[in-house]
Amino acid sequence: MMAPLSPPPAPTLNAIYAAYVVEAGDGFRDHLGASIVGKECRRALWYDFRWVTRARFTGRMLRLFETGKREEERLVRDLRRTGATVLDTDPETGRQWRVSAVGGHFGGSLDAVAIGLLEAPKTWHVVEFKTHGLKSFAALKNDGVERAKPQHAAQMQIYMHLTGITRSLYVAVCKDTDEIHIERLRADPAEGERLITKAKRVINAPRPPVKISDDPAWWQCRLCEHHDQCHGDRVPERNCRTCLHSTPVEGGWICEHWKRPLSSAEQRRGCLLHLFVPDLVPAEPVDAGEDWVAYRFADGRIWIDGAGATAVGTAS
Ligand code: SF4
Ligand code: SF4
Repeated sequence: MMAPLSPPPAPTLNAIYAAYVVEAGDGFRDHLGASIVGKECRRALWYDFRWVTRARFTGRMLRLFETGKREEERLVRDLRRTGATVLDTDPETGRQWRVSAVGGHFGGSLDAVAIGLLEAPKTWHVVEFKTHGLKSFAALKNDGVERAKPQHAAQMQIYMHLTGITRSLYVAVCKDTDEIHIERLRADPAEGERLITKAKRVINAPRPPVKISDDPAWWQCRLCEHHDQCHGDRVPERNCRTCLHSTPVEGGWICEHWKRPLSSAEQRRGCLLHLFVPDLVPAEPVDAGEDWVAYRFADGRIWIDGAGATAVGTAS
């Protein structure tokens, strides 16, 4: 009789998922993405842009995101079979279509642009592909993208606004049934402008904007990756974006302390003189020197941020 194989292959499974986590890295994006600017909470957008919270997706989730990306290839083929011309890359660069604004700090990549669609053959469309779970897909069919997925609608408005294309095609697939839902949106220049202004304000804000709710159990807060920092006492990530010396400027970031530009890799590393933006510390600033800030916590403890200092004492 053949010997049974070892118990369920957890090490292999774990290694498969771990590879996705390693590949995904910290999840920090250099720019504020058009795909998220529709988020209702401006503080959440500021935390995203300021690299406050490291991405904590499991390998399984990251693999699922990849499945969504792989679906795009099929959808391009599906659209082409209707006779449409679909350009999923910019023929001039051979790369994805990109849009950018606010000194390069805001932008995103279009899935495709298309012309020759049966509904409006002579009009160029921005094309956005999305996959949905069963419940989300049902809501989309029922309410339309603007109501059911305002973040996706905002993303398309930005793409139309920044490319000058006046229509967009939203192509959604249900992951459970493979059913396809298609919608066209018309450019709304006022909405495009409003979203750019929103991005600009978030990018240029030296401090986090107000919370969408002070209630930690508010539904958007419960789903928010920044919850424990925003409503609790989780320590933010230590990098140049959370340091009070950093400032976004046209085309990049500068360190006001060292008086020089910061590359993306340098921003990730930070330096020993890092000082948290005070609003990120869940305590009251009570004193400060050239390269340190002292905070008093609610229980009276004093913590000194700066130059490697980690002293914690009791307020006198
Ligand atoms: S926890 Fe709530 S208030 Fe805080 S960033 Fe997230 S959504 Fe905004
Ligand atoms: S002081 Fe250091 S951590 Fe702060 S912005 Fe400058 S280089 Fe980055």
